[in-house]
Amino acid sequence: MSDCLFCKIIKGEVPSTKVYENDYVLAFKDIHPVAPVHVLLIPKIHIDNLNCVTEDNIEYISKLQIAIKEVAKICGVKDEGYRVICNTGENGGQVVHHIHYHLIGGKKLGSKI
Ligand code: 5GP
Ligand code: ZN
Repeated sequence: MSDCLFCKIIKGEVPSTKVYENDYVLAFKDIHPVAPVHVLLIPKIHIDNLNCVTEDNIEYISKLQIAIKEVAKICGVKDEGYRVICNTGENGGQVVHHIHYHLIGGKKLGSKI
């Protein structure tokens, strides 16, 4: 999707602070961090959100799942723990409509929800 912010970040048209990258996944720092570690992990193809995950794009989501621990390690929070959130749709608070996982940590996190 050409007007998608995160597709533009993948293409390098919008700058980001890259944390990790492979053929399927890009991870970069959230521009408005809510904790000492706040990284967004995205697939390198446009998928709107969890409702759009299918057999055709599951390889990208699988790679995203595997990348979580690599990003956590790079950020120094793998062993102490962290939280992964995927806001979905209006009630889920999704603002950017390119599926992304927030990896948040670096401090003791509060409420589970
Ligand atoms: P959502 O609310 O859709 O789950 O999360 C979108 C996230 O993207 C927010 O945490 C917001 O701070 C982040 N964000 C929005 N625009 C940009 C940007 O241009 N660059 C970066 N690095 N993060 C962004
Ligand atoms: Zn996109």
